[in-house]
Amino acid sequence: MSDTIFSKIINREIPADIIYEDDISLAFKDINPQAPIHFLVIPKKPIATINAITEEDRLVVGHLSYVAAKLADEMGFAEEGYRTVMNCNEFGGQTVYHIHLHVLGGKLMGWPPYTDKPKPLE
Ligand code: 5GP
Repeated sequence: MSDTIFSKIINREIPADIIYEDDISLAFKDINPQAPIHFLVIPKKPIATINAITEEDRLVVGHLSYVAAKLADEMGFAEEGYRTVMNCNEFGGQTVYHIHLHVLGGKLMGWPPYTDKPKPLE
């Protein structure tokens, strides 16, 4: 898989506001926050999309939710609540092809999460 900007953040080739790191994952603040709290939890293993997750990746991907919950607790917003989102491909709104769990908090979230943009013409 080709390197994405997130591989560069993992390798410290470009800066990011890193808030957590372990052997499997890294968490850092989103450069364009969509909520008062918005950070990304990513695997160190470069997996392009949810569709590319293999059986052997299951623990890695589950670990991302574990880290999200652990950080929400440590940062003090677990009880009030938050949202985790992983976008997949074009219709999911994915722009960086290294899976990442968005963690959004600090405000009341709306539902549904989409805007009614017209479906692109075939
Ligand atoms: P996606 O649209 O793929 O679900 O989310 C990608 C996220 O990565 C976006 O929220 C975007 O703001 C964030 N992002 C893109 N490039 C960078 C970067 O260089 N640094 C950081 N911290 N976030 C980035």
